[in-house]
Amino acid sequence: MSGVTRRGLLIILSSPSGAGKSTLARRLRDWDPGLRFSVSATTRAPRRGEQDGREYHFVTEEAFKAQVAEGGMLEHAHVFGNFYGSPRGPVEAAIEAGNDVLFDIDWQGAQQIRNSALGQHTLSIFLLPPSIPELHRRLVSRAQDDEETIARRMQKSWDEISHWDGYDFVLINDDLDATEARLRTIVEATRMRRIQQPGLTDHVRKLQMQFEDLT
Ligand code: ADP
Ligand code: 5GP
Repeated sequence: MSGVTRRGLLIILSSPSGAGKSTLARRLRDWDPGLRFSVSATTRAPRRGEQDGREYHFVTEEAFKAQVAEGGMLEHAHVFGNFYGSPRGPVEAAIEAGNDVLFDIDWQGAQQIRNSALGQHTLSIFLLPPSIPELHRRLVSRAQDDEETIARRMQKSWDEISHWDGYDFVLINDDLDATEARLRTIVEATRMRRIQQPGLTDHVRKLQMQFEDLT
């Protein structure tokens, strides 16, 4: 046993709507049940099958703005006419306990977290669709939105894609299994970053003492 502890990572997944964020986030959590999901607050109405507190905390605009004013949001943004934000408390608690937190947020949120005090513990990944017709096909096949909403999401997709170059990693989500495997590799490697291992200094000091005893 090395006794080296680990600091949690903030893992951000962004993409245009329909490229596969939620699907891959679900797969990552099945792979590592220790991964916490940051449940965002939003002022949008729940979709069919969505549960308050599971996919989102569904809140009023007043409650949302009050939480922002209290400094209770790690980041927040206005997307598709609604407010979205990541509550700060659960994220800070998870990170301190050495658990990674997964965020499904847009480029504005990713930028805010990267520029925050937690920025150095952030891993950001952008998912690109293999093509625009395929992105449209996925939005239609998901069967969650009406035609008008799908058209609006498609229109906004270029805005999101145009921020691809602000991320640490960019993956083209063509084959789902291959993308999941790449994601796992990226997460596992980033967990080993020096800054994620606060116990390393003590460990190296111990090695030094053992080394000195030897000589
Ligand atoms: P997002 O969360 O980015 O809006 P979803 O994860 O809901 O996107 O994916 C949109 C649709 O595309 C879903 O029906 C999902 O099953 C499908 N999908 C996701 N990734 C792939 C892939 N690599 N190949 C084919 N279909 C995919
Ligand atoms: P949806 O309404 O489809 O669930 O989400 C719409 C968009 O809002 C997606 O691009 C999603 O990543 C983004 N989003 C969801 N929660 C948050 C959040 O807490 N902060 C930010 N900045 N974006 C979010």
